[in-house]
Amino acid sequence: MHYLSTRGGMPPKTFTEILLGGLAPDGGLTIAETYPQIGRAELDAWRGLNYRDLAFEVIRRFADDIPAADLKAIIDKTYTAEVFHSEDITPVKTLEPGLHILGLSYGPTLAFKDIAMQLLGNLFEYVLAKENAELNILGATSGDTGSAAEYAMRGKKGIRVFMLSPEGKMSPFQTAQMYSLQDPNIFNLAVKGVFDDCQDIVKAVSNDLAYKEKYKIGTVNSINWARVTAQVVYYFKAYFAVTRSNDEEVSFSVPSGNFGNVCAGHIARQMGLPIRKLIVATNENDVLDEFFRSGVYRPRPETAHTSSPSMDISKASNFERFIYDLAGRDPAKVKALWQQVEAGGSFDLAQTPYFAKVADFGFTSGSSNHQNRLATIRMVFEKYGTMIDTHTADGVKVGLEHREAGIPLVCLETALPVKFEETIREALGRGPERPAGYENIEQLPQRFEVMPAQADAVKQFIAAHTGA
Ligand SMILES: *Cc1c(COP(=O)(O)O)cnc(C)c1O
Repeated sequence: MHYLSTRGGMPPKTFTEILLGGLAPDGGLTIAETYPQIGRAELDAWRGLNYRDLAFEVIRRFADDIPAADLKAIIDKTYTAEVFHSEDITPVKTLEPGLHILGLSYGPTLAFKDIAMQLLGNLFEYVLAKENAELNILGATSGDTGSAAEYAMRGKKGIRVFMLSPEGKMSPFQTAQMYSLQDPNIFNLAVKGVFDDCQDIVKAVSNDLAYKEKYKIGTVNSINWARVTAQVVYYFKAYFAVTRSNDEEVSFSVPSGNFGNVCAGHIARQMGLPIRKLIVATNENDVLDEFFRSGVYRPRPETAHTSSPSMDISKASNFERFIYDLAGRDPAKVKALWQQVEAGGSFDLAQTPYFAKVADFGFTSGSSNHQNRLATIRMVFEKYGTMIDTHTADGVKVGLEHREAGIPLVCLETALPVKFEETIREALGRGPERPAGYENIEQLPQRFEVMPAQADAVKQFIAAHTGA
């Protein structure tokens, strides 16, 4: 299996060669040159597999340059009941016949990013050990991504994490989750500023190519191909869980921000999984909903701060992968479209033959707002006795709008309610219960460094802590 750039400017590479990288050298995203095709016989054989064996079957189709026995060992060590709190890894909860919640949030940080990030940590460690290399991961977070990365990379040989977060701007729970880590390879840098300052610092450091090379700076952002691959697995797992035969179709509703999660659903469908609809649910930041309704992709100058904050994005960094497929895998077309976007503009596919194909790819969409979110959390709690988080609520709200009789609907649960206590209280007049092990997390000792919002200060800190 080889990987190409969506903009055509990268020679074919293997899975391992693109594993540690971010963007392709031409600014595009890396993508599989073809999607593996899973025929009926294979699908039938996969139906009975447990999560680990299924993950191996799916991921080895993409990571075919890692020896099978090594890949199996990495996957077996990643997806355990100790880390994900059940043998199912991604358990399905049935609200009523034909309506299901896919639990993706039982990893260490209680959000779905753990599923891919935990695998990434083990893959990185494996590849770095083989090359006798080191990696210093630099990132900025407003909560979820940073903690998922830290929990995946803690204690990993050859890896350090320098994670910038805005001082005093995260919830006490999120702050405690990150800052209570005592592993010597994890560095929490609390920046005197807002999230955008943190992101600007990461950009400034990454643009200093000499520094980046000397200190082996890397990232783990959502465009990482291996993350998308790991997420393909649970679409298969959920499909088998809610159907009795591979003749049935299932629709998925996906709370979306950077389009990473639903991109994995798209890939599963292209591989041959009988998915009827992929329902893209956004919050008030509805750049994706606008595209699927109108054909116009128009990244916004401003991002609204909402009560489903992990979906607060103004442009969707994985979206280019879908447009590549929609545009018949024509890199020149993708390049031209993103030239318009990068010049601060937008593109409009409404009058093109491409837009007519969106439905063939199964996509549809909708958006949700704060009032919808509260009402949905309340409805699900009163009707089914289940508490859902704010992002999941956006997915359920939009999913129900597109539900069809006779087609099972699976709504992806992307975080647990405990992470967004304040909004749950607003909706229900009571807080969520804390899972075991998280009861007194705010009381644990915290380890972090306060930093001015200056790239130079961060550069000096990294230099002083890498021994380079
Ligand atoms: C990251 C995240 C999302 C959005 O996922 P994308 O892959 O960026 O579309 C949704 N919900 C939660 C809780 C998240 O952490």
